Parts: sequence; structure tokens; C-alpha cells
Amino acid sequence: MGKDVVSGLKRILGGDKVVDDEHIMRLYAREPSGLEGSVIAVVFPESVEDVSKIVRYAYDREVYLYPQGSSTDLVGGAYPERPGVIVSMERMRRIINVSILDSIVDVEPGVRLWDLNVELAKHGYMFPIDPGSVKVATVGGAINTGAGGMRGARYGTMRDWVLGLTVVLPDRDGTILRLGCRTLKCRQGYDLTRLIVGSEGTLAIVVEATLKITPLPENVVVALAFFPSLDDLVSAVIDIKERGMDTLLMEFMDRDSAMLASKATKSDIVPTGDMLLVGVPVNVEAAERVLGELTGIMRSNGATDVYTARSMAEAEERKLLEIRRNLFTAQALLAFEESQGRKIILFMEDIAVPPSRLPEAVKGIKRLEEKYGLKTVLGGHIGDGNLHPTVGFPADDEEARERALKWYQDVMRLALDLGGTVSAEHGIGTLKKKALEEELERLGSGKALEIMRGIKRVFDPKGILNPGKVV
Ligand SMILES: Cc1cc2nc3c(=O)[nH]c(=O)nc-3n(C[C@H](O)[C@H](O)[C@H](O)COP(=O)(O)OP(=O)(O)OC[C@H]3O[C@@H](n4cnc5c(N)ncnc54)[C@H](O)[C@@H]3O)c2cc1C
Repeated sequence: MGKDVVSGLKRILGGDKVVDDEHIMRLYAREPSGLEGSVIAVVFPESVEDVSKIVRYAYDREVYLYPQGSSTDLVGGAYPERPGVIVSMERMRRIINVSILDSIVDVEPGVRLWDLNVELAKHGYMFPIDPGSVKVATVGGAINTGAGGMRGARYGTMRDWVLGLTVVLPDRDGTILRLGCRTLKCRQGYDLTRLIVGSEGTLAIVVEATLKITPLPENVVVALAFFPSLDDLVSAVIDIKERGMDTLLMEFMDRDSAMLASKATKSDIVPTGDMLLVGVPVNVEAAERVLGELTGIMRSNGATDVYTARSMAEAEERKLLEIRRNLFTAQALLAFEESQGRKIILFMEDIAVPPSRLPEAVKGIKRLEEKYGLKTVLGGHIGDGNLHPTVGFPADDEEARERALKWYQDVMRLALDLGGTVSAEHGIGTLKKKALEEELERLGSGKALEIMRGIKRVFDPKGILNPGKVV
């Protein structure tokens, strides 16, 4: 079947858009976690019509399709769980239109979030969704995971920024549908645009998006501080909130994790405690005053070392954000060292709890670290209660994999016990399917799963699009 599919796809698309070289296919078959599947071919559509042709072909022959951006997914959402064809959107990466007057941008799905922001900065604007993977993550991938990031407490997640979509449905005709509007206000019956956001490539292939944009803040001041205990750090957070400071960034990492990340990034900053990173948008005239107020709060709550920057450019230059951005790299380094160079798998959690319950969540995660004997790197978006504890283990160690899976489930149960959720921004993929069921059951909403499975059947009657994911 593999050879027939490759020659069939080459016939309809042209040979230069289809790759079946084994080494290249392997690159597209895996995710950063280390999860890996097997691939029949990778196709590189260059237009909406190409995507529609691929879908018609796959529908006819019941071939599985896996839409993919940069494959930075962390929950098993992007890799081919069953053999099939990767539909890479990397050649559809045009910024079609920027309209400042309408506060929108029209883009193809393969545009990287970083490149979009480089373009928007020329107009004094930005697209605020900022995952740690921002340099490579694509618009299509971010829409489909419902991504968030470091500015989530202020700007929310993708669902708050997608106004309209063009999608190709996985049906007999490869139907092309335009959903949503090019206006900020829009009522179009049931909100199918929002249904696609966060659907993890299981309902339709996104081929174009209309996104809302916002002006760049005039200036942002940044402070990075280290605290003797997590309780001190949380009381600083409470004080910052009670003063009504409108933060853009509010991130944390525990002491050991910050030390590892500092080592991984060869940073000059030596962490001396639990780390809090805060950014506050201000006008230039107020920068000095607000920075003074912020560092005052940090010091009065016990911060030992405080590093400051009067602008984001200065913060980037002094690498104040690098330690936090490298949480995943820190765990990779640790697991790699501990496994003495064997291939490793990383599980990064993505729970959210109400911020008031964060100290309990962190203590619970520390208990689980001990219970399962898995060294845990811990950090996250403290402003919105989203935590990313991460563990790693050698891929060939079955016993460690079992332990890590149990740890993963228990972290999610902890979040549910504290009134939180099992996934804040990474999605469900394959790794969180059981936990999603548990979350809905605890809410007495088991029927919601039936509704979701029904929606999947309506969009994808033959089940060819990213099978085995979400529901
Ligand atoms: C180091 C690191 C840090 C990260 N930090 C964050 C973070 O702070 N916040 C956060 O939210 N996430 C984070 N992530 C997760 C991930 O990077 C984001 O979700 C990102 O938006 C995914 O983009 P991508 O282009 O890599 O998508 P992919 O991984 O390629 O795909 C993601 C999902 O979208 C589907 N998909 C992709 N393109 C399309 C399309 N055109 N049509 C239909 N379906 C499509 C895929 O099938 C898959 O289910 C991080 C990942 C890493 C490795």
C-alpha cells in the first residue's frame, strides 16, 4: 500500500511535493517528547487546492492524514500514531495581508509566530500568543493546540485571537469552508471557528487564518528575583496583584530547576532560590517608578537577588527571560546526563489550578517526585496557575516509562483535586485522553465525550484525520 500511495500522491501533486526518503520521514514522525510513529510519505502542499486534492485522495483510499506545523506538540497530538501521510504546512507560509485599521492579519498556516511578530513590529503591532517554542511554532499548530504561553495571564490563549478560518474538511470532496468573520464582532450561529481552535487536527485542516492583532506596549519593565522559599515568592505575587499591577509576564521556576536551566543556557545569572520573573507594561516616563515599586515588593517579601531591565530589549540583551524559556531544555539535559546518552523520552505536564491553590499544587508535585523517584523540573505561568512539571527517562527503560505514566496521571489528578484542569494549553493528544475522561466524569459531564465523538464523526466520517487523538 505504501508504494501505491506515494506514486498516487506524486501523480496528483507532482514529485517535488512528496517525500518518501526514510531518513527525512523519520524527522517528521516524532515529537520533542520522543514519541515516534511510522510514516508512508510526507507531503508539502503549496495551496488550498493542493490540500483539497490530498484529502480527496486520502478519503477515497482511506489513508490516514496527519496535519503538521513544526511538530513541537508535547502531548502526542502531532505524531502518526498509526502509519499514514504527514501533511506538512511548512510551504504555506505567506503573510497575506496586514490591516492596522481593521486590527487583523490574514496568514497561511505555516507562518511561524516569531516571523509574524517580526512583520507586525514594523507596524508597531504584535500577535501576543507567545509559547516557549515561539521561534518555530506555526500559526496552524498554535490554532490547533489552542496554544498560550508566557503572556497568557494578560492575553489568554489562541481562542481569544482567532476571528476566521479557511479549512479543508476530510470528506469525499475535500470541501473548502470559510468560517468566522473579518470583523472583531461576529455572530454566525454555532461558533465553528472556536470549535476548530484546539481541535488538534482532528476535525479539519486549517489552510488560512484571520487573526486579531494588538499594539505593542510602549515599554515593558522586567524584574527577575530569587526567593528563599516558595511561600515568600507567592506572597510577593499576592502583593503585586493587590497593588493592581497589570502584569504582562508572571513566571516561576523552583530553585533546582532554575539552576539546571541556568547551566543549560550557560547563563551568567546564578539562581539563589525559587525564581520569579515579572514584566509590567508601562509608558517610558513611568518605567523607573514602576520598576522601583516592583523590586520593593520583591525585596520586602525576602527576595535575595533581583535583576532588572528598563525595557524588553534590555531584558532580552541581559538574558533575563532565558532561564524560564529553557525549562524543557533543563529537563532534557538532566535526563540525558542521567541516562548516559541513551535516547530519552520527556513528559511535560500542563495542568492549571486557580492561582490561589498554587502552593498546594507545588507541594503535591514535590510529594509525587518523591513517591515515584523521578527528578522533576518545575516551573510555569504563575500568573494564570498553569504549571509545567517535567520528567525524563531512557526510552528503552520500560519500568521507568510505567512509573512516569503513573506520575503523569497523578499530577493531573492533583490538579482536579485542587479545582483545576488537566490541560491548560498543550491539548489532549494521546497522552491526556484518559485524564480528559476523568475530568469530565468528575464534573458529571461524561455525556460531553459522546457529543465530542459525534462531532468528530460529522466532520470526519471515515476517521482519516489525525486518528486516535483527543477523543
Ligand atoms: C520547548 C517547548 C516549549 C513550549 N512552550 C509552550 C507554551 O509555553 N505554551 C503552549 O501553549 N505550548 C507550548 N509548547 C507546545 C507547542 O510548541 C505549541 O502548542 C505550538 O503552538 C505547536 O505548534 P507547531 O507548529 O509545532 O504544531 P504541531 O506540533 O505541528 O501540531 C500541533 C497540533 O496541531 C495540528 N496541526 C498543525 N497544523 C495544522 C493545520 N494547519 N491544520 C490542522 N491541524 C494542524 C497537529 O495535527 C497537532 O495536533 C511548547 C513546546 C516545546 C517543545
